[in-house]
Amino acid sequence: MALDNRRLADLAAHDAFIQRHNGPREEDVTAMLEALGEPSLDALLERTIPADIRLGRELDLDPPKSEAESLDYLRRLAAQNRPFKSYLGQGYHGTHLPTVIQRNLLENPGWYTAYTPYQPEISQGRLEGLLNFQQMVMDLTGMELANASMLDEATAAAEAMALCRRANKKARSHVFFVADDVLAQTLDVVRTRAAYFGFELVVAPAEQLAEVEAFGALLQYPGESGRIRDLAPLLADARERGIMTCVAADIMSLVLLTEPGALGADIVVGSTQRFGVPMGFGGPHAAYFATTDKLKRSIPGRIIGVSKDSRDGQALRMAMQTREQHIRREKATSNICTAQALLANIAGFYAVYHGAEGLTTIAGRIHRLTTILALGLQEKGVALAHDSWFDTLRLTGVDAGKIHGRALTHAINVRYFDGGDIGVSLDETTTAHDLDVLFDVLLGEEHGLSVRELDERVVAEGASGIPAACRRQSDFLTHPTFKRYRSETEMLRYLKRLENKDLSLAHAMIPLGSCTMKLNATSEMIPITWPEFAEVHPFVPRDQVAGYKQMIDELSAFLVEITGYDHISMQPNSGAQGEYLGLVAIRRYQAANGEGHRNVCLIPSSAHGTNPASAAMVGMKVVVVECDENGNIDIDDLRAKAEKHADALSAIMITYPSTHGVFEAGVREVCRIVHDHGGQVYVDGANMNAQVGLTRPGDFGGDVSHLNLHKTFCIPHGGGGPGMGPIGVKAHLAPYVANHVVTPIEGVNDDCGAVSAAAYGSASILPISWGYIKMMGARGLREATELAILNANYIARRLGEHYPVLYKGENGTVAHECIIDIRPLKAASGISEEDIAKRLMDYGFHAPTMSFPVAGTLMIEPTESESRYEIDRFCDAMIAIREEIARVEAGEWPADDNPLVHAPHTMADLMDDGWERPYSRELGAFPTEAVKAAKYWPAVNRVDNVFGDRQLICSCPSIDEYRD
Ligand SMILES: *Cc1c(COP(=O)(O)O)cnc(C)c1O
Repeated sequence: MALDNRRLADLAAHDAFIQRHNGPREEDVTAMLEALGEPSLDALLERTIPADIRLGRELDLDPPKSEAESLDYLRRLAAQNRPFKSYLGQGYHGTHLPTVIQRNLLENPGWYTAYTPYQPEISQGRLEGLLNFQQMVMDLTGMELANASMLDEATAAAEAMALCRRANKKARSHVFFVADDVLAQTLDVVRTRAAYFGFELVVAPAEQLAEVEAFGALLQYPGESGRIRDLAPLLADARERGIMTCVAADIMSLVLLTEPGALGADIVVGSTQRFGVPMGFGGPHAAYFATTDKLKRSIPGRIIGVSKDSRDGQALRMAMQTREQHIRREKATSNICTAQALLANIAGFYAVYHGAEGLTTIAGRIHRLTTILALGLQEKGVALAHDSWFDTLRLTGVDAGKIHGRALTHAINVRYFDGGDIGVSLDETTTAHDLDVLFDVLLGEEHGLSVRELDERVVAEGASGIPAACRRQSDFLTHPTFKRYRSETEMLRYLKRLENKDLSLAHAMIPLGSCTMKLNATSEMIPITWPEFAEVHPFVPRDQVAGYKQMIDELSAFLVEITGYDHISMQPNSGAQGEYLGLVAIRRYQAANGEGHRNVCLIPSSAHGTNPASAAMVGMKVVVVECDENGNIDIDDLRAKAEKHADALSAIMITYPSTHGVFEAGVREVCRIVHDHGGQVYVDGANMNAQVGLTRPGDFGGDVSHLNLHKTFCIPHGGGGPGMGPIGVKAHLAPYVANHVVTPIEGVNDDCGAVSAAAYGSASILPISWGYIKMMGARGLREATELAILNANYIARRLGEHYPVLYKGENGTVAHECIIDIRPLKAASGISEEDIAKRLMDYGFHAPTMSFPVAGTLMIEPTESESRYEIDRFCDAMIAIREEIARVEAGEWPADDNPLVHAPHTMADLMDDGWERPYSRELGAFPTEAVKAAKYWPAVNRVDNVFGDRQLICSCPSIDEYRD
């Protein structure tokens, strides 16, 4: 190539990232089009996307930046965040993420690119990590059961409220009691949820619970300004009177405080952020949810349980998986799908690394420093609002103005209460030197206190802020796992050992339909651990986060242009949360216009389970719209139902392209019908990867959509979270999205409550999506969408010769994913979609999405990031599996004894002396040459689902079982 003829600007490699993100090379595109019989990519798109919704222009975005330029630009933005040290508390605390965990887990694609562990045989590593998390939560809270993470403390508390109602059928009251020292953002979220559940909230001092009739109650432990109450009498009295109780507890304080389980709580929730997860301006972090054993079948979220595999070996899995929301739909009681698996793993490993002794030292040190601070302040005549504390003091009668001035000079943030009180919360990162500075700030520099002398006094007097009745008596983290990995060498190897059990994008494509497992580029990931983004408290004054603000504003502007909406709300921290907020905005808008009675939500039968679950959560009545035999929304049925419910029609929720993987030609018509009958249109944006740059939901009739940034916009799935589900809305809905009580959001009505704990959800992972869009630019994003569609059609063509492709568009093409139907094969051979999914593991692949949206099918989504080489490798595997099924059909192998039903094959199978199967060990474990060259070994044989559900064990197995 003649470089000399090109201008310097053309040599700047601005295209380079597009080439890195997209898998197929130019010659591959040509070959794939040829295989499809398409003259050009444009021709394929013309046949695939209805003409009346095509964008017809390039998106209006800045030209793409190279990886180096993008990182450089972002570094300059990050530098605009001012590095104050925060003592703000309120549910967010400084922490030291152990570097061995940072490098080998948080920054390691082997961990962060994995998917939710629906296929347990290739997920044993992160399942063990999550089981450790559950054990840690159970131990520290003193509860019998814990789930494997919630989105944040506030939503966990809201879920607890709903659980109290469900589980407490006897209580006739519709009142939910909330203590007035619950975190403000928690109350905000609980209030939003309660409104649509029809609950009345009573907010009062905790003691007044004794005088209130309620179905449930939420208490904070310690209270939000630091007070430690002995909750035992209150909880006992509540139980006596048939009130279910939830205690929101600070996980670090529980190391020293009596565990809420021993106090008599029914549910305990909280954040595990301060167990090694950076504050990140609000998230992501894992919340925990723990209950008594009685509530085990109604606990929300995912629970990891112990089961066995087909060789009777111990194996972990997600318990009660069939209970997941896509089965329960509108009967679901919670809409949680994506949670915070990666962050739960970090918190779990933090506990494993420190063990009970380490945590006791850390919590003890935090408390000791707080006690020194308290004694010093008291010595200087400062009054404290409470005579108990763990890590937080509330100072009264001080000169807040002077303190504020000195705090600014020392670049620290303390909390300013209305009325002039000052709050200070210490954490793991606080040092003795920090205390010197704090005394200077709180008392003025002439205080003359010595931290060392105060410390001697604390030791001599045995001073403590923890009331004697509230001191923890019981052991915790006694399981060997929490003792064995204390040295860095042991921890490094433990992390690596678990990582090696799991299949991630670092091994192979993960062709999960609807989940969009695309590249999570290194240059997108790098900034999330920069301290300027990671170590920011969400409640700092806005002038300290100019960099965050600009990054979020820019990302919002990108998403406005990409979607055709007018405004973005960044608050929801998952797609399902976005659905919830979108529907809340619709309800608020309709109520403001005198149409609050509208409560019917139309949902096509093909919808993702979170759709009806979210609708149910905002008090809507779900009316199902049928699909025709081609999988499209049955327009006649829609028209009839819209007419029938015209007076009560609130909204429709559609997915586009549909969950059947088709660009429905009638989508404009669908939107028109609903609008004509007074309803709003919610477009589920999970399939946005087929739209970006080609069509926009805001143009074809959507009023609101969520965007799964962890699908289309490159945030990794983290083995089941984090995610982000911001919503785009048309202007008329913009004032009705979520505000935030602590950090108000411009342009949103004051009375619009929050849906997440932090104003911008999981803000610290937004640089990932920002970087993706910045580096792709308009052309890159469009090409990505085009290649995603090409890859899917190529797969549909190659596999279509061997498996029936269930749905296609009018012109015989599919969108960005395709569904193959296994039902006829199963009828003929007895081989099920599950057998195929497990057999794919032997070939080194993760299965496609199983039985969604149609039972007995597999939904394949390759994304643009997969190369033709990898896609061919996958198709070859699927075709080879089809040939194996043919041998079963032909009677060559018995229906119950063949490589499919025995899949996946493990090393244990190979070592089996008594191998008597009608196929060789080699065929079982090494079905292709490619597998021989690079074998991924499933850690366990096929996991027994029923066994694990029948006897639910959700704690770490005893040491004897380890020995087995
Ligand atoms: C993934 C998905 C959702 C839910 O999103 P989460 O981020 O997991 O909460 C909703 N609808 C569809 C179609 C999806 O694929």
